[in-house]
Amino acid sequence: MTDVTVVGGGMAGSEAAWQLAELGFTVSLVEMKPVSMSPAHQSPLLGELVCSNSLRSDDPVAPAGLLKEELRRCESLVIACADQHRVPAGQALAVERFGFARAITRKLALHPRIRIERRRLDELPDHPVIVATGPLTEGELGRVIMRELGGDRMYFYDAIAPIVAADSIDWDRAFRQSRWDRDASSPERKTREETDELRAAGGDTGVGDYVNCPLERAEYDTFITEVNAGRKILPHDFEEPRYFESCMPIEVMAERGPETLRFGPMRPIGLCDPKTGRRPWAVVQLRPENRYRTAYNLVGFQTRLAYPEQQRIFRLIPGLERAEFLRFGSIHRNTYIDAPARLGAKFELRTRPNLRFAGLLTGVEGYIESCAMGLVVAWLLASELFGRELAPPPPTTMLGALYNHVTAAREPSYKYGPTNVNYGLLPPLGDARKDHKKERMAVRAREELGPWLAMTGYSRPASAAPPAILVPDLSVTA
Ligand SMILES: Cc1cc2nc3c(=O)[nH]c(=O)nc-3n(C[C@H](O)[C@H](O)[C@H](O)COP(=O)(O)OP(=O)(O)OC[C@H]3O[C@@H](n4cnc5c(N)ncnc54)[C@H](O)[C@@H]3O)c2cc1C
Repeated sequence: MTDVTVVGGGMAGSEAAWQLAELGFTVSLVEMKPVSMSPAHQSPLLGELVCSNSLRSDDPVAPAGLLKEELRRCESLVIACADQHRVPAGQALAVERFGFARAITRKLALHPRIRIERRRLDELPDHPVIVATGPLTEGELGRVIMRELGGDRMYFYDAIAPIVAADSIDWDRAFRQSRWDRDASSPERKTREETDELRAAGGDTGVGDYVNCPLERAEYDTFITEVNAGRKILPHDFEEPRYFESCMPIEVMAERGPETLRFGPMRPIGLCDPKTGRRPWAVVQLRPENRYRTAYNLVGFQTRLAYPEQQRIFRLIPGLERAEFLRFGSIHRNTYIDAPARLGAKFELRTRPNLRFAGLLTGVEGYIESCAMGLVVAWLLASELFGRELAPPPPTTMLGALYNHVTAAREPSYKYGPTNVNYGLLPPLGDARKDHKKERMAVRAREELGPWLAMTGYSRPASAAPPAILVPDLSVTA
């Protein structure tokens, strides 16, 4: 019997199996291809990219670039194979997908401590197992997992609303207020002067849990026209375009009639624009995405509009003219666990600690995020098997930010959903400087990953010089 079974040889499973084997454990990697193929997978290779061949930006300041840099420092198998098989794609790390997947398959197949088993796993073994079966997990294993979870904590459709950076909102147009002034966090309202003073100091000007972008009638009409005309992404063949009422795409609502959105997510009821003293014709509400209030999601704005169309059309909303989109909205078939409610600090099922989850199933979105959550889960499990405690990656790093997204305790009413890496997941810098925020956060992440890596002893020390960034004075403190 091997030390660990990893189920699924995609981004997360391949990385997890490799890391565990490199640390000295024997691993059974169970992959159902080619015996059984999901509707999205097409080749028998491990590490198959199901859609785009891009692992996104390699710019060291872009969130995806920073995460990849961290993964390189952790000696990720997936990123090493991607680097070997990169194709020209500007700032992006795009790969020749077959060369990339072949390299991963070969490395895993030749590893003396990895045994690849080509079969569909339908029952979970009793020894340590990492389930990394991805967004299309279904069939018997899906039912078994559902049973282990208690039956009600696995989501199948993923409705994602866009997220914008707080400092890109035009606060002269937008106003903070909860409907009927019912705020959970701000019992008293601050005066305009107090708010301006706080804002000048770079502090949280928070009064009111929600931010509202008010639309006049003509602005609303234009917005609806553009939503109706905007280019949409068509569902994949295997996706039923069937929506739950609670996560209806805005374009489907707009198609039902020009007033539908105004009586849905854009309803202005219970709100009063302090600048006009009256209720707006319609509003777009934004809700804090993190406790630092550096990022906000557009409430109820799940959409299948193409990304460039989202940027163009949502920038028509007053207050969002210069919005920086940290994440775009989407809807697609997906399967993920309500991880904060069900999983512990090592991604183990609280009711069955030998069972761990990795990859997209844990509620991260994207190839590299899934790979990252394969690596972190493997390191946490390895530490446990070595009989030592391993602190999770620092929350100031992209690895730590994703770890926190999956594990942080949430209010029972919080609707957990997948995320990709973005700066909204990182704690703010804690100074009043407004310049080069991302660059300085990237510097901080680099500095803080080093000691953690050294402490794990699982990877090379942080001696590799980080890529130079050509901007002045990036010191983290003001
Ligand atoms: C249609 C589609 C398009 C996508 N496009 C993109 C994109 O362009 N860019 C992006 O970043 N992300 C994209 N994603 C998300 C992408 O799937 C994930 O980001 C990533 O591949 C998830 O990694 P994973 O390791 O969790 O799962 P996967 O990479 O999907 O790997 C899961 C593996 O488990 C195997 N498996 C499943 N069930 C069993 C079983 N019972 N027994 C044994 N093996 C099993 C599967 O065959 C598969 O090899 C897309 C997802 C889908 C569904």
